Amino acid sequence: MLQSTLTIEAMSQTMWDAVVIGAGPAGSLVAHQLASGGARVLLVEKKAFPRDKVCGACLNGQALSALVSSGLIKVLETEKGYRLDRFCLRLHGRELSLPLPRGYAISRSRLDLLMAQAAINEGAHFGAEVEATVGPITASGRSFSVSQGGSSYDVEAKVVIVAAGLANHCVDDLEIQTRIDQHSRIGLGCDVNEFPDMYSTGTIFMAVGSDGYVGLVRVEGGRLNVAAALSRSSLKQHGSPGQVVATILNTAGFPAISALNDANWKGTPPLTRRTTPLALPRLFLIGDASGYVEPFTGEGMGWALCSAMAVVPILRRAILHWGDELISEWSCLHTRIIQKRQRLCRFLALSLRYPGTSRIVLEAAGRIPQLSRYLINHMNDSSFQPIAS
Ligand SMILES: Cc1cc2nc3c(=O)[nH]c(=O)nc-3n(C[C@H](O)[C@H](O)[C@H](O)COP(=O)(O)OP(=O)(O)OC[C@H]3O[C@@H](n4cnc5c(N)ncnc54)[C@H](O)[C@@H]3O)c2cc1C
Repeated sequence: MLQSTLTIEAMSQTMWDAVVIGAGPAGSLVAHQLASGGARVLLVEKKAFPRDKVCGACLNGQALSALVSSGLIKVLETEKGYRLDRFCLRLHGRELSLPLPRGYAISRSRLDLLMAQAAINEGAHFGAEVEATVGPITASGRSFSVSQGGSSYDVEAKVVIVAAGLANHCVDDLEIQTRIDQHSRIGLGCDVNEFPDMYSTGTIFMAVGSDGYVGLVRVEGGRLNVAAALSRSSLKQHGSPGQVVATILNTAGFPAISALNDANWKGTPPLTRRTTPLALPRLFLIGDASGYVEPFTGEGMGWALCSAMAVVPILRRAILHWGDELISEWSCLHTRIIQKRQRLCRFLALSLRYPGTSRIVLEAAGRIPQLSRYLINHMNDSSFQPIAS
């Protein structure tokens, strides 16, 4: 269990350089980078760590590159996750199997624990089971409140970073709007210990059906991590995620997993959303909190980590001296490095919704090697380097 390094009362007695809300990959990476540069950093997380998180658990080339650039790759060196070298997609009994240049599978409970611990090791303070809500700006910073077990304190920081993921209500009182796509699916996930041998280590198995898609991958300890994006109507109709996922696996041509029916499923809010603006005075949104599209290409952690690396130089300037131009700088940089990359993912997720277009995409990718290479390279693009603004 990751313990708090100080009480919420003690948090309120410091003027922080930076406070990061949310200890997912984006938040812990920012806290790690700022703390290693000597800033007084507080990282707050509303859940007890380690905690489960609905996710396909695959780090792609982009995510691994961001971990290398930040020095955080060392947290994986002694881990027992699995290198990924194959992507196996099935729909309606057809299969597309492609080699993966890079990839690593590790459960989110383990990865997020390791990253938050690494931020603490660099000198960041950590508040576990502390819920933060962002407040108004003050003469020299921005205020926010921290609550725990019925107590609440006001705290102040020169800059606040919201890395609170999709279920992010900490900016509800501010002029920030999130527009959720009307047809957005929701995420569901679980772990199972009993499954057919066919689900071997090192491969991402992906089943696509008309009600959504399911990704399966082996993580440390040999467990099978199951993550799905499902239509809300299918869940209403069938009642249980296990049944919808079983139907998708069956229609796609994958072997059944009986343990799915009794698994401990966790869910997410609707996935596809746009958030605006991405910054306000002394406040920046990063990772899923800054907008998200359905995770078909498994790039969410890559986007979250890259947005975290990209915002750090802006935050360093904001801590030294606030200037309103930093707001538009972050919006432009975010559009350039993240939103452009999300377009292909949005296009693929939409194409695979319909049996006709999904067959065309699969056949084209099977017949035209350049197309499948393009898709895999896009999903694994490690050429992206976080850009100093
Ligand atoms: C079905 C599915 C499959 C996916 N598969 C993959 C995959 O294989 N590979 C990949 O790279 N990505 C995948 N993703 C996407 C990935 O999970 C996310 O993009 C990633 O977790 C975003 O990281 P983050 O740090 O922005 O937010 P999160 O990881 O969501 O972390 C946010 C943290 O903030 C905390 N928090 C929220 N509000 C507050 C508050 N008020 N105060 C304090 N703490 C707060 C939360 O408890 C949470 O721990 C998948 C997503 C889904 C839904």
